[in-house]
Amino acid sequence: MRHIRRVSVISTGTVRIRPEHVETNGTPRLWWLTTSRRWTAPRPINVYVIEHEDGLVLFDTGQDRRSVTDPSYFPGGAVGHLYRRLAAFDIPETATLSDQLHALGYDIADVRVAILSHLHQDHIGGLRELPRSARVLVGSADLASVDKRFAVLDGLLREHIRVPGVDWVAIDPAPIQDDAIAPFERAHDVIGDGSLLLLPTPGHTSGSLSLLLRSDGLPTMLFVGDLTYDAELLAADRVPGVGTRKLLHETTRRVNQLVSRHPGTVVLAAHDPAAAGLLEAALTAEGTDR
Ligand SMILES: [Zn+2]
Repeated sequence: MRHIRRVSVISTGTVRIRPEHVETNGTPRLWWLTTSRRWTAPRPINVYVIEHEDGLVLFDTGQDRRSVTDPSYFPGGAVGHLYRRLAAFDIPETATLSDQLHALGYDIADVRVAILSHLHQDHIGGLRELPRSARVLVGSADLASVDKRFAVLDGLLREHIRVPGVDWVAIDPAPIQDDAIAPFERAHDVIGDGSLLLLPTPGHTSGSLSLLLRSDGLPTMLFVGDLTYDAELLAADRVPGVGTRKLLHETTRRVNQLVSRHPGTVVLAAHDPAAAGLLEAALTAEGTDR
């Protein structure tokens, strides 16, 4: 059954991060965050746009442009200093979520479901632009973290997450009977037709979710958020410097097992410079097969 008509990627500007963020060098996050002197080249802040026959589904919503135009967007003091050391954003005027969707021929008012892989700043940026009718799906453990006392130190900017009018849906993937997703045993069926399954992929955050897309006429896709910053590093079981290392390795191995059982699966991360090219190549290859 063909449920999904089109898959695209847009980017709400670019971000430079630390090399130790892309791949751990074994030191704790706070160490490299306060001492690193290097930045990566600019990387995308991807939002994946899935045109399902029942409506538009987003995987992540990018970085808010106000983070580069509004001096009060980030906390002040020492915490603000850490945020500035973590990531350096460049967001052109036309790189808002609404504008980028418009460039693809969509209207943000048509978004029916927005899935957030997790709640860090560069994934929640479009929340204020979404229509009130949109459902916003996020891992329940991550949603629960927002109101914890020192959430801001875990990269959670409560005032930009707890946006009035957002229809939050906390997701806890439950056991399902679907041998095709092994070694995963739990999933949340986003639409109810099996085409979009949310899988628990803890590591970067405890509630992090990945999205498995399966539809006739399209390659199998796995959107992994920030489980990795580079699909080749993921395939080699090399993990980032943010998150719980043991969990990152466990989840990475599960993802690699899943992918190995479905040859041709394209793994699409939020900040992988290669992602747009991987998506295009996979869509082109699938198109010539038919
Ligand atoms: Zn991110």
